[in-house]
Amino acid sequence: SANDVYKLKNGVEMPIIGLGVYKAEDGGQVKDAILAAIDAGYRHIDTASFYGNEKGVGEAIKASDVPRESLFITTKVWNDDLGYEETLKAFEISMDNLGLDYLDLYLIHWPIEGRYTEAWKAMEKLYADGRVKAIGVSNFHRQHLEEVFSICRVKPMVNQLEYHPHLAQKEMHEFCKMHDIQLEAWAPLKRGGLFEEPVIKALVEKHGKTPAQIILRWDIQNRVSTIPKSVTPSRIQENINVFDFELSDADMKKIDSLDSNQRMSKNPDNFS
Ligand code: NAD
Repeated sequence: SANDVYKLKNGVEMPIIGLGVYKAEDGGQVKDAILAAIDAGYRHIDTASFYGNEKGVGEAIKASDVPRESLFITTKVWNDDLGYEETLKAFEISMDNLGLDYLDLYLIHWPIEGRYTEAWKAMEKLYADGRVKAIGVSNFHRQHLEEVFSICRVKPMVNQLEYHPHLAQKEMHEFCKMHDIQLEAWAPLKRGGLFEEPVIKALVEKHGKTPAQIILRWDIQNRVSTIPKSVTPSRIQENINVFDFELSDADMKKIDSLDSNQRMSKNPDNFS
């Protein structure tokens, strides 16, 4: 159901589907989108300091009838703020913007060479101090995770990667499973770039669901957490209405066949 969660390795429960808010404007737009999402049953919101809308996210949390403890809020430390003191400071600024006294998940946004291990130590401190319930990374490939493992006391609990049928991240998914790191999908809909795929269209016909719902269902059946973005209430509702049907093994394999290493964003292997 829409209330389904994944249990992270430290026992924290992460709602499977969240609302992504990249490019939702700070203030009214992001606030209204989140309130519509909460009405539709979402309990998980994905923002980042880079998105410039943490204040609007905080206003929505305050305005909602749902208790804060029932919500799962993620934000991320931006590239310019990677470092021990820098990351601790960036966290406090994000918390001020959000108006929260604890965070559910804090992520390192990108693995900037030479800067993320110190940032990871700050993440561990925030976790040890109880400021954040879970800590993780984003856009980290195997070599980045292995470098973190070599210096860490607490391993990342989540890795948020670009993930959709054109970029199924098979190898990274296996690696994450091996280390009990929950994979979370960003750009799960490839920003609309998958809706015309014949395979998706055929499954739309077969199941009487929309292209977005077929793709998000594939995420869930792969045990990936997913954070589709929309500011349109009807789409927000559509994107969480994926618990009343099931893709068969053959359906899943057809979607798997679309994997073609097509990225929306930079490859973390040669980033920075
Ligand atoms: P997405 O794949 O979620 O696509 C969003 C776009 O798809 C919307 O703007 C809308 O145009 C369209 N859309 C959404 N629902 C639809 C529907 N039901 N029918 C038709 N069209 C629909 O792309 P995204 O926003 O880039 O990714 C989702 C979230 O992931 C972001 O909002 C952000 O929170 C996160 N993200 C993280 C990183 C990172 O580096 N960690 C990078 C990008 C995005």
